Amino acid sequence: MNKAFFLDRDGTIIRDTGYVGSPDKLELMPGAAEGIRKMNEAGYLVIVISNQSGVARGYFTLDDMERVNRRLNEMLAEHGAHIDAFYICPHLKNGVISAYAMDCDCRKPNTGLFRRAIADFNLDITRCFACGDRERDVKPLKELGASEKQVVKVYGKDDEPTLSEAFEIVLKDNGNLY
Ligand SMILES: [Zn+2]
Repeated sequence: MNKAFFLDRDGTIIRDTGYVGSPDKLELMPGAAEGIRKMNEAGYLVIVISNQSGVARGYFTLDDMERVNRRLNEMLAEHGAHIDAFYICPHLKNGVISAYAMDCDCRKPNTGLFRRAIADFNLDITRCFACGDRERDVKPLKELGASEKQVVKVYGKDDEPTLSEAFEIVLKDNGNLY
């Protein structure tokens, strides 16, 4: 079985400028590329789980979103880092694009995208961790049985850590076993 970090995208890997739908002017958060490189080098799959309701809202298309994700991986490559997979929820109950205007089981804090990734990559949940700037980014993994030590809030108020620091915290809190 495999091990993974589940990362939020906007506000965690790139600066959250609000419904990021264009690959221009993406900005990496400080320590994000370094943190992802450490995860890559330690043998973790790095899996992005992201709510992108901008699709359902009609702000941008799925293709636009995929262009942003490709550009993000190009920027990370310049730092020797990469994301292994993106799992995206494009839905919103009251969206204006009818194909995506629905209640779904994948919009965080729902667990759908996490469950799909765990199955797709044959992940051992005891060796999986979640980082994000909001509670809804880490709640699904806890709901699936992970402990508080397996999740880290990043880039928030009160000196919350960067992604690079979060990786070190996870190692320390879990006995450097992983
Ligand atoms: Zn969804």
